[in-house]
Amino acid sequence: MKPKEDFMERVAVYAGSFDPITYGHIDIVERSLEIFDKVIVAVAHNAEKRPLFTTEERRKIIKAIFKDSPNVIVDSFKGLLVDYVAKTNARVILRGLRATSDFEYEFHMASMNRSLNTHLDTLFMMTNKDYFFVSSRTIKEVAELGGVVEGLVPDLVVRRLKEKFKLPIPKKNPIGWDY
Ligand code: ADP
Repeated sequence: MKPKEDFMERVAVYAGSFDPITYGHIDIVERSLEIFDKVIVAVAHNAEKRPLFTTEERRKIIKAIFKDSPNVIVDSFKGLLVDYVAKTNARVILRGLRATSDFEYEFHMASMNRSLNTHLDTLFMMTNKDYFFVSSRTIKEVAELGGVVEGLVPDLVVRRLKEKFKLPIPKKNPIGWDY
């Protein structure tokens, strides 16, 4: 019989651009907490992608959204994801999968990450049927044109999108950045 191992926390890193975070992402984090003790939501700093929100803005928004979830840690990283994950106590990279169009890219990334670090594995979670069509990109496109994105992203994200696109914001309950 194998000796009883000491309790080891099961930690996953959910990395992405989150520009901005959507209910599709949030659903993945919430479901993953059924499997992992801790989930690190890691915002990728990728200068080439020319994000709408800065890394710090994205990190702050996500932190505010998960402020009541002690098992969600919000961080950001530069450089290779496998190098970042190796510095944490996680062994799993968590990714969400929507349509087959996500599959090819995700398959290549997971294979590349596995070849860079054989100790790490990628776990895919299928999108929630309510959010399979939700992507940060379409949210930004619709929001910029004044379309309704309520119900697809949290209210805080709706507000931040309106600010970025200089769209009218209701005067009451301003939400500052000091959280
Ligand atoms: P990236 O820029 O690295 O693709 P994203 O922020 O777009 O990062 O997404 C991070 C992860 O979340 C990716 O694995 C992506 O496929 C997944 N994801 C994005 N939107 C959804 C959604 N609506 N449902 C499930 N997974 C999603």
